[in-house]
Amino acid sequence: MATSARFAGTVLAPGDPGFEDASRTWNACFASRPREVMVCHSTAEVADAVREVRERGVSFRVRSGGHSMAGLSSVEDGVVIDLGGLDAISLSADRSLVTVGGGTRLGDIYRELWRSGVTVPAGTCPRIGIGGHVLGGGMGVLSRSRGALVDHLAALEFVDAEGRAYRVDENEHPDLFWACRGGGGGSYGIATSYTLRTSPVDEVTLFTLSWNWERFAPAVRAWQSWLASTDDRVNTFLSLFPRQQDLVAAFGVYDGPAAEFEELLRPLVAAVRPQDQVVEPMPFIQAVDTVELLQGEAAAADQVRAQGSSAIIGGPLDGAAIATLQQFLTDPPSHRSEVAVYGMGGAIARPARTDTAFVHRTGLMAFEYRTDWDRSEDDAKNLAWIKALRHAMAPHTTGAAYVNTIDLALENWLWAYYEENLPRLIEVKRRYDPGDVFHHPHSIPLTVTEADIARYGIPEAVAARLRAAGLTDRQ
Ligand SMILES: Cc1cc2nc3c(=O)[nH]c(=O)nc-3n(C[C@H](O)[C@H](O)[C@H](O)COP(=O)(O)OP(=O)(O)OC[C@H]3O[C@@H](n4cnc5c(N)ncnc54)[C@H](O)[C@@H]3O)c2cc1C
Repeated sequence: MATSARFAGTVLAPGDPGFEDASRTWNACFASRPREVMVCHSTAEVADAVREVRERGVSFRVRSGGHSMAGLSSVEDGVVIDLGGLDAISLSADRSLVTVGGGTRLGDIYRELWRSGVTVPAGTCPRIGIGGHVLGGGMGVLSRSRGALVDHLAALEFVDAEGRAYRVDENEHPDLFWACRGGGGGSYGIATSYTLRTSPVDEVTLFTLSWNWERFAPAVRAWQSWLASTDDRVNTFLSLFPRQQDLVAAFGVYDGPAAEFEELLRPLVAAVRPQDQVVEPMPFIQAVDTVELLQGEAAAADQVRAQGSSAIIGGPLDGAAIATLQQFLTDPPSHRSEVAVYGMGGAIARPARTDTAFVHRTGLMAFEYRTDWDRSEDDAKNLAWIKALRHAMAPHTTGAAYVNTIDLALENWLWAYYEENLPRLIEVKRRYDPGDVFHHPHSIPLTVTEADIARYGIPEAVAARLRAAGLTDRQ
């Protein structure tokens, strides 16, 4: 095992026991082989790791759960600063706040909080790390009823590019706190812990409805109108599968008793009668496990070949948009290709678009175009399918995309992820990481050029703000 002069954590290099496991990230399609993994167990170790990689002048990336869709928590021949040893979960005496280490997995948080009758509204995949997830927004099992995860973030412990550690919250470093609530991971520094506001949870109502493929269009139409008008406590998703699976499925969690939900479900069932329907009260933790199973094999896998892309949809889709989805799912490249739809609105929509860096407050739905497959020979056709589907659907979307479904093929990513919050995000970047020490292909830049403004499709009003604030580089 390699040792390092200052860093007191564990350093794993090729050949060391544990290196292969420690260097593996979820998406094999974007896998890279680091030269070292520095496993940190404390904020002090993270600070030392930052100072050391800078002194050595090696490229590095930060990793929490390793579930970046584009493999952005690893780097070829560089160093991974791995927060895997920062996984403590500590609940305050009154159970209203939980502090979790920057490398904690969502499943461990759900399970630990459940023992005390509280929770936080986070994503659907228990293996995701809190690190990347919360920084990008965090939507999942209870988002319509309780809000995006960023809305529950009370404070972070943060290590900056100089290796300084400090608390970040509404009062201390408020601009950085704003940016850490939706600005995405890997741009500003390293969050070594997150303090989140919890809320009580007990029994919820899990529901699943399914239609066969011939009801594709009526099912999508009915589900989206139901979503637009139903109670905020209905958390719901729609899964559009390939024709060969002969299945369109809606599922979700009603954050209340089953008796109330039967009434709320009536308009959807009346609009298009499902082939199967299950409504079942259950302990919240069992609903979390069931929702994970409904996500398919890729969500539970250690590593897959996968590609995803996202789009925010502002209102119900028209017939042409639904026909486009159906056409792409008629003969997709993998039997595991899917369009997964997150129902938005409800508590997600309560904060204003600029209250936090997470700008997607006004969307009705977040689409995740996704596909996973087994053989590298099939990479090209799967990547091409996602891109073609995204382009075909573009006229029906707001043009925005969700940074947590990071897609390196997205042409206008810098605008799509952040929209009008972009100028402030760049200002914060300049203040906290003026040397661009924390960077990856989709990190917040220090400046944009006029060519970038054109390439990303940044509207003139925001371009004018960037210029007025001196954030453009006139090349
Ligand atoms: C199977 C699957 C299911 C998903 N389901 C959902 C879902 O239900 N809802 C949802 O909103 N999203 C979902 N996502 C997206 C997920 O939120 C993002 O991929 C998230 O970035 C993963 O976080 P991570 O820590 O596991 O990833 P990592 O790969 O470790 O990190 C992702 C990015 O964040 C940076 N980063 C990580 N930790 C820190 C830190 N502590 N400080 C600073 N930067 C950091 C990394 O450098 C990298 O750039 C899903 C993704 C997958 C693969």
